Amino acid sequence: MTRTDSASVHTVPSTEDLTRLAATYLRSADLEQLDKAYQLAAQAHAGQLRKSGEPYITHPLSVATILAEWHLDQQALCAALLHDTVEDTGITTADIVSAFGKSVGELVEGVSKLDRLEFQTEQQAQAENFRKMLLAMARDVRVILIKLADRLHNMRTLEAMSPEKQRRIARETVDIYGPIAHRLGLHRLYQELQDLGFRYLFPNRYTVLNKAVRAARGNHREVVNKILAALEQRLVTFGIEGTIKGREKNLSSIYQKMQEKSLSFSEVQDIYGFRVVVHDLPNCYLALGAFHTLYKPIPGKFKDYIAIPKSNGYQSLHTTLFGPFGTPVEIQIRTQDMHKIAESGVASHWMYKSSATPLSDVQNKTHQWLQSLLEYQSESGDAVEFLEHIKVDLFPDAVYVFTPKGTIKSLPRGATAVDFAYDVHTDIGHHCVAARINDQLSPLRTVLSNGDRVEILTEATSTPNPAWLNYVVTAKARSKIRHYLRTLRHDEAEQLGDRLLQQALRALNTEPSLIQDSHWEQLLKGDRCKSRNDVLAEIGLGKRLNIVVARDLLRKTNPHETVTETPRTAITIRGSEGLAVQFAHCCRPIPGDPIIGLIKKGQGLLIHTQDCRVIRQFRADPDKWVDVSWESHTAQLFEVAIKLLALNRRGVLATVASAIADAHSNIDSVSIGKADGSYSEINFTVQVRDRAHLATLMQNLREIPEVVRLTRVQS
Ligand code: MN
Repeated sequence: MTRTDSASVHTVPSTEDLTRLAATYLRSADLEQLDKAYQLAAQAHAGQLRKSGEPYITHPLSVATILAEWHLDQQALCAALLHDTVEDTGITTADIVSAFGKSVGELVEGVSKLDRLEFQTEQQAQAENFRKMLLAMARDVRVILIKLADRLHNMRTLEAMSPEKQRRIARETVDIYGPIAHRLGLHRLYQELQDLGFRYLFPNRYTVLNKAVRAARGNHREVVNKILAALEQRLVTFGIEGTIKGREKNLSSIYQKMQEKSLSFSEVQDIYGFRVVVHDLPNCYLALGAFHTLYKPIPGKFKDYIAIPKSNGYQSLHTTLFGPFGTPVEIQIRTQDMHKIAESGVASHWMYKSSATPLSDVQNKTHQWLQSLLEYQSESGDAVEFLEHIKVDLFPDAVYVFTPKGTIKSLPRGATAVDFAYDVHTDIGHHCVAARINDQLSPLRTVLSNGDRVEILTEATSTPNPAWLNYVVTAKARSKIRHYLRTLRHDEAEQLGDRLLQQALRALNTEPSLIQDSHWEQLLKGDRCKSRNDVLAEIGLGKRLNIVVARDLLRKTNPHETVTETPRTAITIRGSEGLAVQFAHCCRPIPGDPIIGLIKKGQGLLIHTQDCRVIRQFRADPDKWVDVSWESHTAQLFEVAIKLLALNRRGVLATVASAIADAHSNIDSVSIGKADGSYSEINFTVQVRDRAHLATLMQNLREIPEVVRLTRVQS
């Protein structure tokens, strides 16, 4: 039973080994796919070597073989063979999808994603969050199983690494991957990972303890055999069929027990463990009764994990007896089914029951398993707590993201950058203007994903925007924003409300000046607010939506015409929440131009085109830049400078002006530049809605025969 010896030995499996193993439960069509995956992986890794000097392909092959031992399906095995190809070779996820289908592609992508995460294990308290993050990112349990098999093989071959790397990988295994294996009920894997981790973390203690266990083994075995015979005899006497095996403890659990309970080696070693497997559930309790007539049970040591399973699905009866020489005898009693789950947990639910089982069924197994556990559990009480545990473990409602310092924060699903900002600190929330997510500047409304690295950009003069209330999901952010808005002085709230209402009206293609007092009077009829200023204050305080009030007002101006639906928010620039927006004069961006925002101290956000030459020199300092984009509907007009070269003919200027008017554009200013013989340069500033509008205008100008050159002037 002990894994301590096999752990130090490892053999490289051959493709034949894998095929032979897989053939015991896979169909021949699946085996063909498996061979195809092997060929591709071998080709991709050709020439690459592991640290140990072995060809690299031995690693994915070993990982796939471990998974075949767990009887995982064809897709998981193919993904295991290909799991390092996307990161380390020229193969892309798209290649894998076209050759092996979407599922295999997703599994490989999932494993690669986990590989890219790095965990600083100095922060012990973060380990639990990191484990949850891994589980949340995996989505498919098979991704975690591939990752665990990958880690197991790396641990088995850790000898080739430098001592420093050995310690780092061993620590990560003990802190992160071992506990995940335990949580998923992969008991054997858990023990092997912990033992290997112990060996590389504490090489000296491992050696001493290993020697002690070997030395005590002979004597130990004699006692075990005596007790075993007595237990077997008792089953026969009671007419119960079952098998009993002595359990030898693995080194890491002996070490852990010595540490936790301050016991000496011999005290821990002198506890004898046995596992009894019987046919059905009633026989578990019968066997328990039988053993209790043989040796007296130690009070307080009996645990019924059949009625109340552990959170990873583990079921057994546990009891400890006073043994023949006054030594404690630990007994676990379970059925064959429970035993399977105890040994391989979640993986056992991915096994093929028969080769006729369709794949889709296999994919649903984990769900079914959780469901069956849930049903079982509701019979025995505690259902809610149990479900919560499982849900958190496998299908978390949370997202886990990194702060710039590598601390992990958990936020509810759907949380945005604003939620994150308030979670870090109220002041950060109050002054946030944008976020840098995975080094990409992003708007505050961006919904966070697992594994994101989030940094918040703040601006001292910026204040919370009531519009944030539309998309924050955490109670903390919501209450802090509301609290801030409540503390606004009444006149400040009115001003803010007025500004927001004007934005909303413009978004509905209405000039705010068109709204008259009579419309307000109509609106206030039957409203809880007594005055226009009260309504504005409520908008400013986030108690009313600006767009709703704007629509109501428009209905008063024209009760028969329905207001056309327009975008939710009225700002021209997405990502500018809470900031005053100005457009740079150098490049004069218009809707449709790719743009970028520059945060200017005390001036809000200055919008440039992405290719603006003036800003090129500042681009190196990414702190100042905000990723912004145009709202789809803007009522505003934008100024554009145009330079044209035309033949000096009478009436040319008038022709040009009328072409501009034909394009429904206004001329802001015009100047005649230097004349060169028969040509003159004319500079216009005109107003356009967007790039499409400008294109129409330019087209009109080009059709004038006298115009020989035409350019939009930027910087
Ligand atoms: Mn690997």
